[in-house]
Amino acid sequence: MHDVIIIGAGPAGLSAAQTLASARNTPQNPLKVSVLVIDSGTSHLNKAAPHQAPAISLGLDGLSILSKMREDINTLGGVEWAEDKILEISGDNDTGFVLKSTEKEYQAKKVVVATGAFDPKIAGLPETMENPMGNRGPMVMLSHKRGIVKPGLFVAGLLAGESSMFAIAAGSGCHAGIMVYRDFLNSNDIIHDVPGGRS
Ligand SMILES: Cc1cc2nc3c(=O)[nH]c(=O)nc-3n(C[C@H](O)[C@H](O)[C@H](O)COP(=O)(O)OP(=O)(O)OC[C@H]3O[C@@H](n4cnc5c(N)ncnc54)[C@H](O)[C@@H]3O)c2cc1C
Repeated sequence: MHDVIIIGAGPAGLSAAQTLASARNTPQNPLKVSVLVIDSGTSHLNKAAPHQAPAISLGLDGLSILSKMREDINTLGGVEWAEDKILEISGDNDTGFVLKSTEKEYQAKKVVVATGAFDPKIAGLPETMENPMGNRGPMVMLSHKRGIVKPGLFVAGLLAGESSMFAIAAGSGCHAGIMVYRDFLNSNDIIHDVPGGRS
């Protein structure tokens, strides 16, 4: 069983993964969670070349941004990857969650759903509602409180009802990562680095 499964490897899912991976290698943070990111390969960022992504070269194409995010996560370690499409989720925070695709079954203690703007059509998730920040098509969101849909189940990015911008989706993913981290540690610890702090 994985500690955490993140469904979706757009800016939100990858940012959640990076936040958790970055916690592994700091002496002050004892938590070393195993993370699996499952993705079906259709991030909206694939089509973008943003000029509003802080600290990223203006107009860099989305594929390059996602690839760099994955590279940084791999450097930090502790994250595995699966190309798959999740169709069903069951279980809870007490017994663990079970995620199913057409061919495989995955298990995790905590799950972050970061599947983007539209209805993920994953059986077992709560009903979606209209995303009030939607700007195109039937953008939907899951109801949540500070990223928590229900105990052990978190949401990030556009599915959390955010506006459709790279930086906002990534920030929401970072928030979800922090909430998962907080859930495991039962404290408000966060990961703050200083120059040379990891050398
Ligand atoms: C044409 C276009 C241009 C854009 N231009 C800009 C711009 O200039 N500036 C800017 O800031 N933003 C821009 N955006 C918006 C930006 O791309 C989004 O805000 C951002 O990608 C949302 O991130 P996310 O992680 O919430 O969702 P996404 O990036 O959509 O990622 C969701 C991921 O979840 C995966 N997934 C979905 N369902 C499942 C499932 N059942 N199982 C497994 N995986 C699943 C998908 O394959 C996808 O990889 C643009 C978007 C588009 C479409």
